[in-house]
Amino acid sequence: MERAIVTRNVRPSLDARAGGHRLVDVIVQCLACARDNRLPAARLRDKPRCAACKAALFPLARPVSVANSNEFEELVRNSPSPILVDFWASWCGPCKTVAPELEKLARERAGKVIVAKVDTESLPEVAGRYGIRSIPTMIVFRDGRESARVSGAMPASDIAERLAI
Ligand code: ZN
Repeated sequence: MERAIVTRNVRPSLDARAGGHRLVDVIVQCLACARDNRLPAARLRDKPRCAACKAALFPLARPVSVANSNEFEELVRNSPSPILVDFWASWCGPCKTVAPELEKLARERAGKVIVAKVDTESLPEVAGRYGIRSIPTMIVFRDGRESARVSGAMPASDIAERLAI
């Protein structure tokens, strides 16, 4: 059975040790037993296991939806591997075309690349920060910094080649 996981939503929490710095928990559903696991985004490097059935929650084999700006920054900063971010919107036809290609990349490169999706309608501040002028735009971050970007719908193989992932 394939152990894929889906990040369904996030809930902010306060970490007293960080002096009230707002951290973000990512809710990761274990597809082996369907239990929701709450993880700080900073624990992405720790290879966490499901609290109920101990199945490995990683590698991520499906795109992760980014729910807010804080989560985005934490994902980019803490990602244990290169992270490919798809900036998209629901009204965008080419975004729909490229979506299954990104699913394919997430599946084929599970453990090597994390695929994340940013809805530019719900997170315009994130799209603005990275100067997104057309969608879909896909950006690869390595060690917290942008390393490559490409715009427009294309097959998974072209995305991988042009982003060098
Ligand atoms: Zn489980």
